Amino acid sequence: MSDSAPLIILGTGLAGYNLAREFRKLDSQRELLLITADDGRFYSKPLLSTGFAKGKEADELGMQDAQTMAAQLNAQVLTGVRVTGIDRENKTLIHTDGELAYSELVLACGAQARQLPGAAAMGEQLLSINDLQDYARFRRALAGKQRVLIIGAGLIGSEFANDLASAGMQVEVVAPDAQLMPGLIPPQVAAAVQAGLESLGVRFYLGRSVRAMQPTEEGLQVELDDGSQLHAELGLSAIGLTANTDLASSAGLECGRGVKVDRQLRSSDPAIYALGDCAEVQGLSLMYVMPLMTAARSLAQTLAGQTTQLVYGPMPVMVKTPACPLVVAPPVTSPDGNWTISGSGADITALFHTAQGELAGYALTGAAVSKKLELNRQLAAWLP
Ligand SMILES: Cc1cc2nc3c(=O)[nH]c(=O)nc-3n(C[C@H](O)[C@H](O)[C@H](O)COP(=O)(O)OP(=O)(O)OC[C@H]3O[C@@H](n4cnc5c(N)ncnc54)[C@H](O)[C@@H]3O)c2cc1C
Repeated sequence: MSDSAPLIILGTGLAGYNLAREFRKLDSQRELLLITADDGRFYSKPLLSTGFAKGKEADELGMQDAQTMAAQLNAQVLTGVRVTGIDRENKTLIHTDGELAYSELVLACGAQARQLPGAAAMGEQLLSINDLQDYARFRRALAGKQRVLIIGAGLIGSEFANDLASAGMQVEVVAPDAQLMPGLIPPQVAAAVQAGLESLGVRFYLGRSVRAMQPTEEGLQVELDDGSQLHAELGLSAIGLTANTDLASSAGLECGRGVKVDRQLRSSDPAIYALGDCAEVQGLSLMYVMPLMTAARSLAQTLAGQTTQLVYGPMPVMVKTPACPLVVAPPVTSPDGNWTISGSGADITALFHTAQGELAGYALTGAAVSKKLELNRQLAAWLP
């Protein structure tokens, strides 16, 4: 245990690298070490669900390698190193080849794709895409194939449906809810997005769950709960993400849906912070880029000695379904209220008001997307 030990950031996703960048703007000297289980390439994860239509190989989406990042950040970047434990008493990280001391530790270790029961037995016939390596594997598996079955119709499943259909694939989507992106947008908005995707040829089996699956010679066979059988050449599972909290919870840190942190991004151990997909900030676990960028700026200040409280303004998400443009500011901080819907066809305006009449969220499709800036001015901040 030593304060001469480096500041360690675990994870080189957008959270880890953005934090390192913001920190270096304020402190060019303190020893900084980033650790990742992957190859440490800097890439923009949101581009993964736009890469098929653009015909992009994984290598074309990787922007800078770990060495270049290390030089830019005046940091050390350890790649291919999986951390397996945190010894809080001795302020050390335990990894596959040894131990590393930290003075302060930031968890930026992301989230992982939830797995369907029985998915492992499907091998390469059923994959999920949550990082650049997954994208590369899926592209390889897709070579020469046409028919893709997506399981899950959340934001990520819907984006991949749009992207793969635009790339000329025949896409089918199965999901247990009656609408796309349940919990995020009201049914009328989901219907507009669904119609947009159907115009690309995407076929939906909503309100249906998967009863059984098996790999076949030609790909994947799936039986739905109504007994119907679907055959695809490749399956994409997109049934949601779970924050990587195992390390933190094994070390006795408080975890909920993510590693619980306060508005300084500090966990229940004052020497350990968290941000990005792995963190739950004051009960909010927001797996999007804008919250992590805001958190990175705020945490950089605290780590550089200027204790700073995180402030979240409204952070709408542009959903990448060009067949029906959608922007949504989910009512994350005021779940009690009502949606009011106006518009028709592809152009829907949905406003979410609290019982007190405050605008707490919205969803806009088609031409209505242009109201975004005006509505942002009226939206209540998420963490004022
Ligand atoms: C297909 C897709 C499209 C998306 N589109 C959008 C969008 O349009 N807009 C938006 O706002 N958000 C979008 N998101 C969400 C956004 O990309 C994520 O919120 C963000 O990238 C998360 O970054 P992160 O750094 O927290 O986690 P990650 O990128 O998951 O990084 C985690 C890092 O931790 C490392 N790690 C984890 N465990 C260990 C360990 N034990 N030992 C060593 N290293 C470890 C990993 O190797 C990795 O380097 C999308 C997500 C996906 C999957």
